[in-house]
Amino acid sequence: MECLNQGIQFIKGVGPKTAEKLLKIGITTVRDMFYHFPREYDDRRKSKQISQLINGEKITVFGNLSGAPKLLRLRSKKTILSASIIDTTGRLDITFFNRPYLKEKLLAKSKVMVNGVVKKSRKGYEMINPTLELVDDVYDGINAINAIIPIYPSTFGLKQNQIIKIQKYLINSVLGSIKEYIPKEIREKNKLCNLAFALENIHFPKSSKEYRVAKYRLVFEEFFLLQLSLIKLKYNFSKNKIGTVIPSNDGQEKLRESLPFKLTKAQDVVLNEIIEDMENITPMNRLVQGDVGSGKTIVAVFAMLNCYFNNHQASMMAPTEILAEQHYETVSKFLEPFGVNVVLLTGSTKKSIRKKHIEGIANGSVDIVVGTHAIIQEGVEFYKLALVITDEQHRFGVRQRANFETKGKSPHVIVMTATPIPRTLALVLYGDLDISIIDELPPGRKPIITTQTAFDERERSYDFIKKQIELGRQAYVVCPLVEESEKIDAVSVVELADELLCTFKDYRVGLLHGKMKSKEKEETMREFKNHKIDLLVSTTVIEVGVDVSNATVMLIENAERFGLAQLHQLRGRVGRGSSESYCILVCQNKTAVAKERMSIMTETNDGFLIAEKDLEMRGTGEFFGVRQHGLPELKIANIFEHRKIMKKAEEQVKGLVREDEYLKLDKYPELCEKLNANSRKFLGC
Ligand code: ADP
Ligand code: MG
Repeated sequence: MECLNQGIQFIKGVGPKTAEKLLKIGITTVRDMFYHFPREYDDRRKSKQISQLINGEKITVFGNLSGAPKLLRLRSKKTILSASIIDTTGRLDITFFNRPYLKEKLLAKSKVMVNGVVKKSRKGYEMINPTLELVDDVYDGINAINAIIPIYPSTFGLKQNQIIKIQKYLINSVLGSIKEYIPKEIREKNKLCNLAFALENIHFPKSSKEYRVAKYRLVFEEFFLLQLSLIKLKYNFSKNKIGTVIPSNDGQEKLRESLPFKLTKAQDVVLNEIIEDMENITPMNRLVQGDVGSGKTIVAVFAMLNCYFNNHQASMMAPTEILAEQHYETVSKFLEPFGVNVVLLTGSTKKSIRKKHIEGIANGSVDIVVGTHAIIQEGVEFYKLALVITDEQHRFGVRQRANFETKGKSPHVIVMTATPIPRTLALVLYGDLDISIIDELPPGRKPIITTQTAFDERERSYDFIKKQIELGRQAYVVCPLVEESEKIDAVSVVELADELLCTFKDYRVGLLHGKMKSKEKEETMREFKNHKIDLLVSTTVIEVGVDVSNATVMLIENAERFGLAQLHQLRGRVGRGSSESYCILVCQNKTAVAKERMSIMTETNDGFLIAEKDLEMRGTGEFFGVRQHGLPELKIANIFEHRKIMKKAEEQVKGLVREDEYLKLDKYPELCEKLNANSRKFLGC
């Protein structure tokens, strides 16, 4: 019996070379292969006799090859191969450009099937570059007549036929031994077909009805397993894990008194949830969501102070050095008056200083470490770590937290994000975390006035920016090329900066982009913060978290190239003080979709609403950048398109948890086994 975990290289017909190519598209086992679903299908069920062909239609024709194929080699190394097919009603010419290797097939003189677009020619009908199959041995056993042919995602050098052959072989020889693991009651209740049927029909659907039945089951299955895995993960995370009990103390009140503002109600609620969690011996595992500017940082500061007053250490990580430094400043500013020893640890911390810090962290003289990912990567040993906070976690991958255990104790964990994910989705996608939402902005913030303007009218916007600078304010101009590794990134932003240096020659213009050294970036950012720069021209390196409350204008070039959620993030860089702030979206592209997206931005400041629209318009892949979120990639399900199915799966999962809180699943050994395998894969171990 062949097993799903078996390496794909052991399957008949898969040599080492093919295995290597399959590896490139993430396939190493038989299971991976089964779950490598077609990207689309070529419906070749419609076939016609030659006399009934119509100019321009895409169709299948069966016939016999007549006469020898002619191969013409042109001087430019190009080739033209031509032949004819006949059936009882007529004749069809077929022509292939640059496919000389098909000559052999055409010499076989057997019955063939061609599929392509019909073109009326002088002599009758022809097809250019149709797909060609010999009917007798087509696809090693799939009957091509009336077939829906799958088209798979592939990689260079891996032919569709090869994938199809392997799939066909697996279905014939392995499918029979596949175990169903979704409990019968759940299958019956939700009208799910069994797994073998689903796999067979997702690859080789007999008809569109069977395809839908199969797909429905697989989408359901994906949500069902995802949610079960997350819940299991949540349980495993806290099971046998001992955190540090941090009783609430008067540090809180002292900090409150020293603040120049009063916490919002939402901040209070979330802070209480955190403080309560930390009073437990079970480690906290909490996601704090809050729109840009909602004041997440100060909540984190409270939590860290709480640890300090209980003689424990805390750590806060940010995805970039600029952000880490900003957090360091905020945290020190608020906490040093209490005698807290805060240090900053990033990739560019000087060696001697780093050494000193690392010693202090290990012997407990350092209380709070703020830094970048460098904190984890370099295996820094903590003396008594009780709390780890990651800000804008989506760049880390949420689930890397195990690394932080010290002396058998697991720290409490908070992940903070400004990516507003609609609550219902968050509950499903982050099912392994408890969720807190700061759904209120500090008082006195005026909504950011957002306008859009055409590319050739930006001069007027520049005049507007000048007026703001004259009033003592600062502004950002952002260009879209994001990838820090892309050469074009540096060039375009530098070019724009040159142009703006002329336009704004009476003012101080700064430049910030990912190709600069982190020292330079930090320096520029610091200058902007200290108002040594009036106008900052930047790529999206300023995207998350940067806080300069005197900045009141955000102009975004090529706004149509950004996702809505990202535009919203960028816009959130302004409007952080009490003055009126503006966001100007400069668009070059005037497609209907671009227009609609821009009008959403001009009409609302509500991050959650924008997120939902973004999700709806772009689909989930782009929206979440799923990998970045540390979520497994959904292979077939789409959180937006299939949200009704997601709900159904969620209900079933809830039912299971109701009767079996820790999901031991004694009643369902197959499901238990599947879930364990899934979780291992999920956790990458
Ligand atoms: P984000 O949630 O985007 O990380 P920050 O934590 O950077 O937001 O807070 C944005 C700004 O709002 C900061 O300057 C912070 O000091 C200020 N702030 C935070 N909470 C309040 C509050 N309750 N009242 C007034 N200002 C606040
Ligand atoms: Mg922040």
